[in-house]
Amino acid sequence: MNEPQSEAFFEEQRQLMVDEQIAARGIRDERVLAAMRQVPRHRFVPDFVLEQAYDDGPLPIGWDQTISQPYIVAYMTEILNIRAGDRVLEVGTGSGYQCAVLAELTAEVFSIEMVEPLYIAARERLRTLGYRNIHFRHGDGSRGWPEAAPFDKIIVTAAAGHVPAPLIEQLAEGGRLIVPVGQFSQTLMLGEKQHGIFQTSETIPVRFVPLVEGKEKKQRGQD
Ligand code: SAH
Repeated sequence: MNEPQSEAFFEEQRQLMVDEQIAARGIRDERVLAAMRQVPRHRFVPDFVLEQAYDDGPLPIGWDQTISQPYIVAYMTEILNIRAGDRVLEVGTGSGYQCAVLAELTAEVFSIEMVEPLYIAARERLRTLGYRNIHFRHGDGSRGWPEAAPFDKIIVTAAAGHVPAPLIEQLAEGGRLIVPVGQFSQTLMLGEKQHGIFQTSETIPVRFVPLVEGKEKKQRGQD
């Protein structure tokens, strides 16, 4: 057994996470599995939950926000069907973990975070880890990123009351969008744009922190 909290220990934990939580539950896309084997999740969580970095659940990242359960990250990534040349938009950078998984799979990722300290920390973390293909923005991601649109894939990692209209507009023809919709009971909705028509279908029940629309949070408690 490797020494607890050594890099070898975390590496071993990560491979077990992929085998037991992700592949065992039916994620089959080899590229997604490889990305999940690669990204060091323990570098995305606060020290006080470091030992739980590869556990089967979400974890707190401060500012009342969470890093999603590994299986959900893999599920959302697989369903997006990311191809190497896709332009991908993420709304809700959070820790930057999902963003790193996306950046393993495609050439260009755009990620927006509303809570400024999380945006700063994630940008720093991903740069330190060597990711050079991610563009970061601090702001309200429900408005999308019009200057960088259209996007082949859009992923929202906070729960919305409805699919924000700007995101539908900024989705490319043939593109896919995945977003949790609902308040207490949420459904992960998959949206597709074909011949200019946007249609959604339900996938699985999920639980995400809410998408906050129309304001830019700078400090805890500031509305
Ligand atoms: N993808 C993240 C998990 C994010 S939790 C990860 O891998 O760690 C959801 C995040 O969405 C939180 O950080 C929250 O601050 C952010 N958020 C909520 N509403 C938002 C909005 N309108 N625009 C951008 N980010 C938002």
